[in-house]
Amino acid sequence: MKKESDLVKLGEILHQERYQKRLKEIQIDRIKLDFIENKNEIHEIKRAKKMENAHLFQLLYYLYYMKTNFDLILQGVLNYPLLRKKIQIELTLDKEKELQDILLDIKRIIEKDVPPEPIWKNYCKSCAYGDLCWS
Ligand code: SF4
Repeated sequence: MKKESDLVKLGEILHQERYQKRLKEIQIDRIKLDFIENKNEIHEIKRAKKMENAHLFQLLYYLYYMKTNFDLILQGVLNYPLLRKKIQIELTLDKEKELQDILLDIKRIIEKDVPPEPIWKNYCKSCAYGDLCWS
């Protein structure tokens, strides 16, 4: 479904235009890194800053995944090319604990026989999964 979203397409074009020289979409098991720089920096490219918390935890998950599966301690960088902004992300112990709680919640939801009812938020309007939740 994600492939059909115009916003996802816009994100892909942004990736291509701004980061063509170093774009490396690196697939490692279940995660896909936009690119790696300076040997230890995982970079994610984002279109806007609207869902910054989701962006943050996506990247924290990548850092956590690399740490727990490969024993690699890496840094993260969120890139917002339209805002000309970069944000450094670190997997601190507090963030790691928060992430583990989120992963437990996800596991609990997955194990339910019936998914919980979706709760409408403003960002549902532009979410690539809108059809799945609201049709
Ligand atoms: S449309 Fe669904 S998946 Fe997307 S933000 Fe809303 S509830 Fe979440």
